[in-house]
Amino acid sequence: MDYKNYIKIVEDWPKEGIQFKDITPLMDNGKAYKAAVDEIVEYARQKEIDIVVGPEARGFIVGCPVSYALEVGFAPVRKEGKLPREVIKVDYGLEYGKNVLTIHKDAIKAGQRVLITDDLLATGGTIEATINLVEQLGGVVVGCAFLIELSYLNGLDKLEGYDVLTLMRY
Ligand code: AMP
Repeated sequence: MDYKNYIKIVEDWPKEGIQFKDITPLMDNGKAYKAAVDEIVEYARQKEIDIVVGPEARGFIVGCPVSYALEVGFAPVRKEGKLPREVIKVDYGLEYGKNVLTIHKDAIKAGQRVLITDDLLATGGTIEATINLVEQLGGVVVGCAFLIELSYLNGLDKLEGYDVLTLMRY
């Protein structure tokens, strides 16, 4: 399936110069959404994962159906102040300013095999921070899966040594 038929490119959003890749038409089409999730499920099955981890909010859209299909857990990574119990956190740089991501301290047990999911790999900062959280807890990142990779931003450079699946490349 050519998933790109279901991605809408929005120019200059959320700010000038950004070409936003809108995945909602893909989610809107049950067959396309299922086909994309199924590819990631197949990838994750081969990796024998114990748990899926995804950053809010679009990492949930990709990761939760994968965890449901494989009957493994899903651990959310969220912005600071959103998770109700004890967390660990990581600061990371954005294009402008910085962001903080957190995960519950007991979300992952040492040695668990983790698949990380997000909708899109841009600069790689978000996924690098998510990997950092997983590894602080002793999780083993056995794969990272994205619907989209913006190859011109070289996010893969930050994922050297990790196994990565992307369904579309721009
Ligand atoms: P990064 O940390 O730079 O890899 O950015 C990844 C996060 O930002 C992902 O969770 C995406 O949802 C979002 N993102 C970054 N750039 C875009 C874009 N051009 N279109 C849609 N989402 C984007």
